[in-house]
Formats: sequence, structure tokens, C-alpha cells
Amino acid sequence: MATIAGVTVDTGHWIGGERVPSAETFTDVSPIDERPLAEIASGGAREAEAAVDAARKAFPAWARTSREERARLLHAIADGVEKRIEDLAQVETHDNGALIRSHRRGVMPRVAHNFRFFADWLLNLGHEDFETRGHTNHVSWDPAGVSALITPWNAPLMLATWKIAPALAAGNTVVLKPAEWTPLTASLLADITAEAGLPAGVFNVVQGYGAQVGGPLTAHPDVRRISFTGSVPTARTIAAAAGPNLTPLSLELGGKSPLIVFADADLDLAVDLAVEQYDNAGQVCLAATRLLVESSVADEFTARFVEKASRLKQGDPRDETTDIGPQVHRRHFERVDGFVQRAKADGATTLLGGGPNDDLGGLFYRPTLFGTPGTEIASEEVFGPVLTLQTFDTEEQAVAMANETRFGLAATLATGSPERAERVTSRLVAGTVWVNCFFVRDLRAPFGGSRQSGVGREGGDWSFDFYCDLKNTVTAPWEK
Ligand code: NAD
Repeated sequence: MATIAGVTVDTGHWIGGERVPSAETFTDVSPIDERPLAEIASGGAREAEAAVDAARKAFPAWARTSREERARLLHAIADGVEKRIEDLAQVETHDNGALIRSHRRGVMPRVAHNFRFFADWLLNLGHEDFETRGHTNHVSWDPAGVSALITPWNAPLMLATWKIAPALAAGNTVVLKPAEWTPLTASLLADITAEAGLPAGVFNVVQGYGAQVGGPLTAHPDVRRISFTGSVPTARTIAAAAGPNLTPLSLELGGKSPLIVFADADLDLAVDLAVEQYDNAGQVCLAATRLLVESSVADEFTARFVEKASRLKQGDPRDETTDIGPQVHRRHFERVDGFVQRAKADGATTLLGGGPNDDLGGLFYRPTLFGTPGTEIASEEVFGPVLTLQTFDTEEQAVAMANETRFGLAATLATGSPERAERVTSRLVAGTVWVNCFFVRDLRAPFGGSRQSGVGREGGDWSFDFYCDLKNTVTAPWEK
């Protein structure tokens, strides 16, 4: 047990409806001050096996539970989340350092919405029957089985429930492996699911390091779906582990997305969109970290951007007035700094920031902008508050630069011309394109990445496509 901001969190695994403590633990540290928050159970092959076993045993009854009952339970979980928004916000902020104001007003309400949305979608899920030479085709969405869900630290509970909710709605049972840097809110969610009345074994949480517990989980032959959000190298390891069993995978990975600013754009809006890329201290997969700006407005854009970004308030994420908190972990902070120092050594011009925030110390990194970037900083995902600025002269050039990446998660355009928006959008390789806006998300829409940003799409029907075994039943005409 640990107490964080007055909230008690169980630090064990949650397997088969019971808390499972562990002799082996690891220390969870808060990015706010790098002090220990809790000793967390550290799982391995044994815990992965036990959790899959519990989920496998719970599966037949859960799969047979009516859609109405599953939807009712998901709404009950959403009620439980809504009752505990402040607890969840406090614990998440202490655990991953993201802003309390975002957790209170954006992230935790979205966690509840994840459950409500997929509960309601389930009730309308279907296909029209159709006929072939008098035979009826009926498509059914059969639950697939045990789903292993592996999630990162940058938006821990939001990203976990984006998977848990549709997996449960589909009639699957779940084993969640949260990121080791942010294990706490998953444990609170286990309490909430139990209070909501979810049967034992339908939802399980195993804590621990990726290779130790995630490895055996993703290689397990009884796991029927793996949904992973995280980095490209880990995705490769997971795909290799899933290979022998041919376990279907959904992969939501990194990005190096562009924000293209055309000279005909509303420049104030373009600057606002660019500064927004520092949200969550830059630890956002969708962040448009490459600013591509038409040459004729580049000086004006840069001046206004630097002026606005310099006014962002960096500090304690528990303070409602803070705009930028710390990096999640010392190791991550050093990785970000490594990119920045190499960019400088490669000759990139520092237009803003360019190093740790020495006034605050700890894990606070200054919002940074590089002009004339070298190759690494303009092509690799930094996953920190580091943007690059490059200029272009023609639309053709802008599209080529935007697509010059091994990723394809998102792209953002700022332009005053609907015709240009349509022309450019049709040529961009990206799972999501935003025109004159950013981060507007509707769960009915497909979400995912192209190229190395991912495999598959989730959201609406696409989530159920993934978590279900679709079956087509062809029935001959019955004798009259
Ligand atoms: P990561 O790949 O290091 O870890 C993600 C999860 O995988 C963690 O739970 C980790 O313990 C687990 N893991 C590590 N090794 C494993 C193994 N061998 N087997 C099974 N599981 C293993 O990623 P991260 O640093 O936590 O997250 C940052 C990355 O996530 C960035 O690349 C970011 O762009 C990406 N991301 C993508 C999206 C999206 O929706 N596309 C959203 C958020 C983050």
C-alpha cells in the first residue's frame, strides 16, 4: 500500500479479482521532485502466467454475457471514474508529472468517456444481413479471448482505458501491463472495476518491467489479441514474441509529425498551434514537432512564436497556473538532453531554450526550438519539449518535406485556402490530419499511424474489428 496526496493505492498485482503482493518490488519515483512514491510489485513469467490463466478462465462467462449487461457494467465503471476524478488526477500528476489542470478537466473525464463511448457503440454494433442466391449472410462480432494490453507512461490511464474499454465491450477479458514509470492509476482502476461489479478475472493488472513481465505475456499462446502503445523498438520485440502464435497485433507508435504553415494562414492561429506542441512537456505521440513554415512569413512567425512560447510558465504540475511540468524520469530527461546537445554539436541554431531549466533544477527541461536543424533532431522522435523549424518555398516542397520521415502518425496544416488544404491533405501520409486545429478527437473516427507509426486503427467499429473474431454465417433457405 502507498498513500499519494491522501489517496491509498494498492501496490500489488490484480489477478483473478484478488490483490497479489510480490516479494520483488521496484521503486516508483515522482518526476516532480524525484522522491520515491511507492514500492510496486515487480512481476515476471509467473505473474504473467497467472493473469492469463485468470483471464482465460473468466472468458467463457464474460463472452456469453449479454451486450446490455456488458454495457451496463462499463457505464458503472465510468460512474466510478467520475466519482474519483480528483483522486485519479492527483495520483496521475504525482506519478507522471503531467498538469493537474489537464487531468482534472481533460484527461480523467475522457477516461470515463472511453467507457461510455464503447458501451454505447456496442449496443449499435452490427451489419445488415445480405443475400447470396437466396442464402442469408449474417456477420457476427464474436469475442476473441484474452487481450494483453501494454501501455506507456505519457498518458497512462487515458491510453490504457482507450484499449480496456473496447476490449471488455467486445466480450474479451484483459491483462493490462502498465508502464513501470507510471503504475499507480491502473491499480486504482482495478478497485473501480471491482466496485462496479465486474466479475473476477475479467480485468487483471500485472505490474513490472517490460522485458520481465511484458515478454512472457506477449509470447503466451493463450493470448488472442495484443494491443500495444509505445515505441518502435519495443513494438519490434513484441511483434517477434507474437510471431510464433500469430497473435493479432494493434500497434500505436511514435511520430515526428509536421505542422505546415502556409503564408496565407492566420498567423496568430498558426503560432498558437505551434506553441501547443509543448503540451505535456512535449511528451505527446501526436505532437507536431517539425514546424515547416513558408519562407515569406518565417521571420514573422518565428518572432511571434518565440515571444509567446517564452511566456509559458514552467513549474510544479500541481499548480493550476503551470503550463509545462517536468520530464517523466531522469533517464528520459537525459535522453532528451542528449538529442539537444547533439543537435547543437551538429550546428543547429538554438532559437529558444536549448537545455535544462537550471532555475528549477530536477527534471524540468526548457521548451526548445532549433532552426537549421541537423539530420538527427529533424528526423528522430525526441518525445520532449523540442521542436525544429524549417522553411519551404512551394507547396510541392512542403508536401515533400512533410512526408520525408519514416513515421506517419499525424500532420497539421495552417492555411487560409480550403482548396490548398484539400490538395495537400490528399498527399500527406498520416493517420490523422488537422486543418487549422489540433488535437480535436472524436472516438468514432479511426485512430492510428501509417508507416512506422503503427499497425491498424482503433476507434468506433475499428476497435471492434480488432478485438472481435468476425464470423460470417451463410444459411440456406429453410424448407417451407
Ligand atoms: P516503451 O516502448 O519503452 O514502453 C511502452 C510499454 O512497453 C511499457 O509498459 C513497457 O514496460 C513495455 N515494454 C517494454 N519492453 C517490452 C517487451 N520486451 N515486451 C513487452 N512489453 C515491453 O515506450 P514509452 O517510452 O513508455 O512510451 C513512449 C513511446 O510511446 C513514444 O514513442 C510515443 O510516441 C509512443 N506513444 C504512441 C502513442 C500512439 O497513440 N501512437 C501514444 C502515446 C505514446
